Amino acid sequence: MYSNVVLGVEHERFEAVLANKKRIDNVDSDADFNIEQLNWIINAYKNTVERFTNATFPQDPYDQLKGAIEAVFNSWQNKRAVTYRKINNIPDSWGTGATVQAMVFGNLNDKSGTGVAFTRNPSNGNKELYGEYLINAQGEDVVAGIRTPHPMKKIKNIKQESLESKFPKVYKEILEISTKLENHFKEVQDIEFTIENEDIYLLQTRKAKRTAQASVKIAIDMQKEGIVTKEEALTMVDANSITNLLHPQFVDSQQKELFNKALNASPGAAVGEIVFDADKAEEEAGKGREVILVRDETSPEDIHGMHSSVGILTTKGGMTSHAAVVARGMGKPCVVGAESLIIDHSSKTISNGSTTLNEGDIISIDGGLGEIYIGVLQSEPPKPSEEFNILMDWCDEFKRLKIRANAETITDTKKSLEFGAEGIGLCRTEHMFFEGDRIIPMREMIMSDTKQGRERALSKLIKYQISDFEDLFMLLKDKPITVRLLDPPMHEFLPKSDIEMTELGNAIGVSPAHIREMLVKLSESNPMLGHRGVRLGLSYPEIYEMQVEAILRAAYNLNKNEKLSVSPEIMIPLIMNAEELSQMKQYLLEKINQLEEELKFTFNFTIGTMIELPSAALNSSSIAEHAEFFSFGTNDLTQTTLGLSRDDASKFLNSYVENDIFLEDPFVSIDQGSVGKVVEISISEGKSSNKDLKIGVCGEHAGESNSIQFFNTLQIDYISCSPFRIPTAKLAAAQAEIIKTNLL
Ligand code: PEP
Ligand code: MG
Repeated sequence: MYSNVVLGVEHERFEAVLANKKRIDNVDSDADFNIEQLNWIINAYKNTVERFTNATFPQDPYDQLKGAIEAVFNSWQNKRAVTYRKINNIPDSWGTGATVQAMVFGNLNDKSGTGVAFTRNPSNGNKELYGEYLINAQGEDVVAGIRTPHPMKKIKNIKQESLESKFPKVYKEILEISTKLENHFKEVQDIEFTIENEDIYLLQTRKAKRTAQASVKIAIDMQKEGIVTKEEALTMVDANSITNLLHPQFVDSQQKELFNKALNASPGAAVGEIVFDADKAEEEAGKGREVILVRDETSPEDIHGMHSSVGILTTKGGMTSHAAVVARGMGKPCVVGAESLIIDHSSKTISNGSTTLNEGDIISIDGGLGEIYIGVLQSEPPKPSEEFNILMDWCDEFKRLKIRANAETITDTKKSLEFGAEGIGLCRTEHMFFEGDRIIPMREMIMSDTKQGRERALSKLIKYQISDFEDLFMLLKDKPITVRLLDPPMHEFLPKSDIEMTELGNAIGVSPAHIREMLVKLSESNPMLGHRGVRLGLSYPEIYEMQVEAILRAAYNLNKNEKLSVSPEIMIPLIMNAEELSQMKQYLLEKINQLEEELKFTFNFTIGTMIELPSAALNSSSIAEHAEFFSFGTNDLTQTTLGLSRDDASKFLNSYVENDIFLEDPFVSIDQGSVGKVVEISISEGKSSNKDLKIGVCGEHAGESNSIQFFNTLQIDYISCSPFRIPTAKLAAAQAEIIKTNLL
């Protein structure tokens, strides 16, 4: 190990010597070698070192110690440490430390051993000592997954002797230590220990990595046990990771072809193509494929491949092996220790004895049950646990920000309400034009050269819009909804293939040549900075007028038929300045007046705008004179503030993050120094002219924990995110308020 870690000689060189000697001398286990054989191996090792480093193995213990310490510091810069920091957003500037300890020997005799234990089960959160150990072995042997370790507690039908029965005194001592450590650190601990002649030594203790499921249960349990307060419990759970709990599970009632069953290291359902090495996994995932990394065991070198995979399967190792620990930390489904599966690297196959699968074949793995199936299995949404519901209720006690959803379909709205959304903060109406037959009149409208033609097509669309809004309003009852008028450039709605063009031509009575002509006419070099949002609204006011009519007619119908009083928030996208908003608003108010006269009804509604251009932020004081609310579209605002295309920048953003130009992808976590400042300026300008201005955020950042922490420091009333991010938003909002008001 020293030669590998400190001197940089490949581990396999020594494994080869050992394996050879075992084969020649017919020895089964490392511990069975006699003195003479060990001396032979030591000599062979020394020769190996000399051959590969051109120097003899250092014999002075001080030189050895210095080398070891240097290796620890150098490890900060190795590829796996760099990748780990990148995945976990740890700044490169932190640096590392080294602790020098006296050595104890777990491989002294059969009264010795080594192990890893968690003070609670890191997979499901149950309160039990959970871990593994090996008799007559040293440190790395357990985590390396080379020998199959023994359990801590007696387990029925498992022949390997548990720590509890082999070393009852040590077992009892570890239990006592666990309680002491948990009470001290107020956290579940992951401990490494060595037993030397039945005496226990703790080598290390640290906060235990756990699945999202375990994390929630542990937080609630520790509060109940009086170890932590409610506020501490809420901050123990990583807000970004709890979306893992909402991920699908396999449907029970379906035909399944079991390939193998092994250890359930990290829960969840994953379906993907088999890939046998980490680089390939990264490459395939980069092409948009879903892959499952299948290895005998993983090591830190595989981190990038694990990160790129939807699930992980190993044939060796236990519940504390590298694969298991890392997968749990990443929230990925993982099955380990599938010992009866044989991987053949030369033919790139994996076999269970009767069936052989190739690289690229699809498997489905259930990390909660430890099962591996051949082919694609269907999945369904999970049922949230009791602890999860308690956690969500606690969030409501602490959070200040209201949480809304970005949703426009019935399914998404129902889901959002189930997750606790307090309204809809962004209903992207363009999504309503793609469903079923609607796309035909939409395309007909775009194809029309005249206002009359457009109005004819819009009169077909309005009935769909009215019934869509009625359905949404019915579901939401008294909860608020912000409806955004059409935003994307027109060409996004047009047919792409020849077949589609012919079909459209037949449906609306124009030639495919005319359609092609329109496609050319509507195409733009920079569509995201082009004819979209309010710019379209001003060019073709009849479109927004139709949408507003639909929204208000739906509200009227529900008022008459269901006695429901709906007060929609009508939102105009991509405003640059006050004049633009005021002109657009004029069109809409005229339409609304006409409607009120026709129906003899006074509508309740507000009109506001999105702030997604720096210009809008700088003009916020005059814009706010015409707006009752602002909603920050931080996706476009990031794009336009940083001048980074949200569709293309991913090509180089990774390297920007790697090189510390950004700590995180600015489309994921808000860039506080730039976009964050723009938001701050806009709020202060907006409030200066309209103190009642309601303020929300509806870009993707509204579902990301660090960004939410930042938003909570500003005068923002609500954040709105996609349905599956709502629990994250609730928890992050509660944590942000707890931190801000120093409740810890
Ligand atoms: C935004 O730009 O942040 C936003 C919410 O709008 P969209 O993503 O639809 O452009
Ligand atoms: Mg936008």
